[in-house]
Amino acid sequence: MSLPGHRGNIAGRCAERPTRSLGISGAPRASILKNPFQLVDLQHRRVEYLRLSVTDRCNFRCTYCMPAAGVDVVPRAELLDFAEMVALTRIFVQLGVRRVRLTGGEPLVRRDIVDLVAQLAAIPGVDDLAMTTNGHLLADLAQPLRDAGLQRLNVSIDTLDPQQFSHVSRGGALQPVLDGIAAAQRAGFASIKLNAVTLKGLNDDALVPLCDFAAAQGLVLRLIEYMPIGVDAAWGPETWLPIADARARVQAAYALEPDESGEIVGGGPARYWRGRHRQTGQALRVGFIAAVSEKFCEACNRVRLSPTGVLRECLSARGSLSLRDKLRSGATHDELTAAIRDALAGKVDGHQYDAAVPTLESMSAIGG
Ligand code: SAM
Ligand code: SF4
Repeated sequence: MSLPGHRGNIAGRCAERPTRSLGISGAPRASILKNPFQLVDLQHRRVEYLRLSVTDRCNFRCTYCMPAAGVDVVPRAELLDFAEMVALTRIFVQLGVRRVRLTGGEPLVRRDIVDLVAQLAAIPGVDDLAMTTNGHLLADLAQPLRDAGLQRLNVSIDTLDPQQFSHVSRGGALQPVLDGIAAAQRAGFASIKLNAVTLKGLNDDALVPLCDFAAAQGLVLRLIEYMPIGVDAAWGPETWLPIADARARVQAAYALEPDESGEIVGGGPARYWRGRHRQTGQALRVGFIAAVSEKFCEACNRVRLSPTGVLRECLSARGSLSLRDKLRSGATHDELTAAIRDALAGKVDGHQYDAAVPTLESMSAIGG
């Protein structure tokens, strides 16, 4: 695809100063001065992490993510193409982003995803390229993705019971995901983490078996509190499990203590613990993501780009800046850069989720 009117500019250097357009008052902090192009928001949070949602399509229908009937997908022509994703990623990197995570929808259903990984991995300044996947198509793709330059992988797996897995994912099969995890281990990723959303009455009895599996495989498990996003009747007191309750369940089987080693790459919202199985002594590393009960917004260092190119400065923000429309109407590099800065100036200081008012937009559409 050609990007008329701005291809030459995209590669060029950004010429403006960030602090003024963000309206930051007082003396700029030293960290900002180190890179005068560094994106910072009004709360002085450095934005270093881009979550790039490469598709709104998915081969699962997880109960906590989308309605049983699925969600309306946008016409293919409205999705960012690879050249657009690469062009926008280059701008974010010039603005200080160092880490990029591909998500969706299910990123592995995007055609030629391995090519996209190779193109993103080749961008100077992308120090860390990762993906979150449901793992269903991973068995065949793990090695090609690794060879293309993908460094880290998070695989979502909510239970090890095949029937429960099929129920939670509405028809998904467990074995291909297990095969995908095994293939990823053989492919030699720098890190593989397992993600499980904790759901009262649905998979709360699966948390300790997941810990046992992660411990036996030497993988880090992250337990994620169910967020009121993308839900119809599923989210509520009957299904929401406070993260403290999830931790208590793990603690019944494992002696846990906070992991302060800092060895786990991510810098995200998870709080990590080290554990020892109370009977076998097996070592475990487990992270807890308390998205609702303990806000972690003060440390938020990320922005999101939807599959249609809408910039979301917060998971809970609707996002009103279409970078795709700007690209397709021929915006220059400087215009795109300024638009991103202005959008970041409006980044809220805390998410707007209200437990009483679920967001009726699917996590698959947002790019979770
Ligand atoms: N399809 C991929 C997958 O499932 O890993 C990537 C996209 S998915 C939207 C990204 C992550 O969001 C997954 O780990 C999923 O479990 C999580 N997620 C989806 N809906 C959620 C919700 N309502 N609350 C908490 N986590 C959710
Ligand atoms: Fe698909 Fe991931 Fe959402 Fe499950 S959580 S429906 S796999 S996008």
